[in-house]
Amino acid sequence: MTGLVTLDKDGQSAEALGHPDDCTEPAPGEVSQYQSETNNVTVTNANGDTQRLAARKDANLKFPSHSHDYSELEGCHDDASHTLLPPESKVSSSVTIDGSPVFVVGSAVETDPKTGGNVNIVAGGINSSVGEQ
Ligand SMILES: [Zn+2]
Repeated sequence: MTGLVTLDKDGQSAEALGHPDDCTEPAPGEVSQYQSETNNVTVTNANGDTQRLAARKDANLKFPSHSHDYSELEGCHDDASHTLLPPESKVSSSVTIDGSPVFVVGSAVETDPKTGGNVNIVAGGINSSVGEQ
């Protein structure tokens, strides 16, 4: 089963690898709403939290600024933030909203543009029990 992904409440649904161990590794990211397009398809979990499902046309992966290099002299530096969109091959092949595929939990859905390390979607947002076969 593959978990469908909602927009992120806590900013911990994605991770980017390849950064220095002395800094933030993996760098945490969130599944976030993109621009103004929205859908109204929501799920509610056992705690009563309701979030929209993350579809490719209106969601992306946002990684706040984090360091990509470390030296004793400079400490953590070479900071950058990333905004990434998983390719069609890394989103749901069967669940779509208005023709737009929904994000799914998975590894190597993208690569960190500065380290080349894997970017993983590690949690389904508020509700990892929503799934597709
Ligand atoms: Zn990075």
